Amino acid sequence: MSEPTTWTLAESARRVREGAISSLELTDAYLDRIDRLDRAIGAYLTVDADGARAQARAADERRSRGERAPLLGVPVGIKDVLNVSGWPCTCGSRILEGYRAPFDATAVERLRAAGAIPLGILNMDEFAMGSSTENSSRQLTRNPWDLERVPGGSSGGSAAAVAADLCPAALGTDTGGSIRQPAALCGCVGLKPTYGRVSRYGLVAYASSLDQIGPLTKDVRDAALLHDVISGRDPRDSTSLDLPPTSLASGLGRELTGMRLGLPAEYFIDGMDPEVETAVRAAVEQCKALGAEIVPISLPQTRYAIATYYIVATAEASANLARFDGVRYGRRVPGEDPIDMVERTRAAGFGPEVKRRIILGTYVLSSGYYDAYYLRALKVRRWIRAGFDEAFRSCDALLTPTSPSPAFRFGERTGDPLQMYLSDIFTVTVNLAGICGVSLPCGFTKAGLPIGLQVIGPALGEAAILRVAHAYEQSTEWHTRRPNLAVGEGAA
Ligand code: GLN
Repeated sequence: MSEPTTWTLAESARRVREGAISSLELTDAYLDRIDRLDRAIGAYLTVDADGARAQARAADERRSRGERAPLLGVPVGIKDVLNVSGWPCTCGSRILEGYRAPFDATAVERLRAAGAIPLGILNMDEFAMGSSTENSSRQLTRNPWDLERVPGGSSGGSAAAVAADLCPAALGTDTGGSIRQPAALCGCVGLKPTYGRVSRYGLVAYASSLDQIGPLTKDVRDAALLHDVISGRDPRDSTSLDLPPTSLASGLGRELTGMRLGLPAEYFIDGMDPEVETAVRAAVEQCKALGAEIVPISLPQTRYAIATYYIVATAEASANLARFDGVRYGRRVPGEDPIDMVERTRAAGFGPEVKRRIILGTYVLSSGYYDAYYLRALKVRRWIRAGFDEAFRSCDALLTPTSPSPAFRFGERTGDPLQMYLSDIFTVTVNLAGICGVSLPCGFTKAGLPIGLQVIGPALGEAAILRVAHAYEQSTEWHTRRPNLAVGEGAA
């Protein structure tokens, strides 16, 4: 029997179901590996070892009584922005130190209903603002493929944990690329569902009109499986679509005959890493070989996407983060009067990037600037959506790189926020348009860093993008590669 921590989610669930391994043994294998390796990676902020073992025992008992559930007894990692009843939820921020979640987010509740076991809390950029996880106030998370490099962000802990076999799958969130970009940089699969597919209830809001919860997994089938579990209408999120949970995992094929795949010229830009471009173009050829027709597409709106995103997202963030005032939420720093208290609380609790965005967001919403920035950004946002609608009249999905570069070194972009924002150029459009996208491995650089291919689909086009992703994945070996973490083994 192969090492249990290398199994996919589907494989783990099957082996537990068949009794080849108990849930307790599987859970212990992860706890043991986290013990040995996570000091070097830094993916987990908290591991709920006792809770996970107790649930594993309960799962084994349920199984022995003949109960069935799709993920019965399989552990899953959770990003630090989702409420898990009784666990800390800090959003990678000092301001929420000491906070404990009073309830389960709907996505977590649905994981539990499917029999999965929340294993621990995964690191992230503070309030999901960032592309490298360097904005976490808690700790550094390292890329398992090169410990001197970032795992991407903001779901860097989730991606690093999946890549390093520290959990079979994890939940992340994606407001402008935070599932897909870290998945690309860590060599795993990351799915950003259509806006409204997955309930945001219990997700601490960054930019409410862009945020979506989604899976980070070892392969495409697992992403489909996890999406099937967490999707579907939830009356507690008024933006959740009135649709039943998906059944994507049953519809994955191996060929692409009859599919038209668009190649948007604007996603192959000057200045992008040549190794990324080569790998993505090779993936396009591979899709052609699998029977797809490749259609050239133009999305001229793309050049305005970063500016639009950083206006809309910061505007919403400035409003959403008002609740961290030391009264409603946030660890209070006493002051001379209430205003002074709020100022001190927020000055001490938020990190520099969060402050920058609150200031930017407040500015673009302020009277006199609202029309020039925020309102105009909303108009461009609608135009971006119109561009995709037009594109999807001539193709079923789009193929693009996920990130213009592979994983970068720590500190390389922290001095220049704009440089960091530009890493999101290929991902923010999908959130602005409210559509869906998946990133999956499509090669490695000569230095051994993973490269991500993004498949973008129309609203509710998850079945189409996962079909493309799965057919491509199954015709390659990329998803089977593992980082060599021997250096971390046994490290004190
Ligand atoms: N990197 C983008 C940002 O900093 C996206 C983050 C996200 O998707 N949460 O806002």
